Amino acid sequence: MITVQCDFDDTIVTGNVGKSLLNAFASAKWRAIENLYSTGEITVEETNRREFALLNVTKQTIEDHVFETAELRPGFPEFLEHCTSTGLNFSVVSNGVDLYIEPALRSLFLSTAQLHSAHGKITENGISISYLDPYGIDCQDAFKLSWLRYFKSQGHEVIYIGDGKSDISAALEADYVIATSSLEDYFRSERLNYFEFKNFYDVRQVIDRILI
Ligand SMILES: [Mg+2]
Repeated sequence: MITVQCDFDDTIVTGNVGKSLLNAFASAKWRAIENLYSTGEITVEETNRREFALLNVTKQTIEDHVFETAELRPGFPEFLEHCTSTGLNFSVVSNGVDLYIEPALRSLFLSTAQLHSAHGKITENGISISYLDPYGIDCQDAFKLSWLRYFKSQGHEVIYIGDGKSDISAALEADYVIATSSLEDYFRSERLNYFEFKNFYDVRQVIDRILI
């Protein structure tokens, strides 16, 4: 079995929906938290826990924002269909929050995609999020890596698709890496093997080559 493990923000969609929501509706404090992540002081999971706690919005506001702003990277629906018809196990694994990822996938008629992400709950004090690893245990760190290792433990070969710093540790243990943006920069500068992509037509071509 081959699993395609794919990031969401800046990968399936061309922007970062989570940061866009924070930018539009959270207090500016979220930027200070983002700096702690950039300098490596806190994990991506802790970053999102603190940032989404600053977001006081309704479900409707989130969905409206998603429908107005989220844009798929070209070729994604066709690619997803290709995975289904060729028997590739396609799984979205994201450090983002289901409250905005689900409506994004749903609006694009992609409700069949498997999703593993933060689970968000709207409370009076912002959005409270939690990550569950593949064994149902609360996950404080390396969420994407925990899913990658799970797929590998099931005997799957894993093709990893992503764009950013939070993808690095999982991508390093994947069988194949298809990267863009800062994930690509990292693999290039470390002289590691990877394929680059700009859209999902590129991704499909790479996978067709891998599978020959
Ligand atoms: Mg990303």
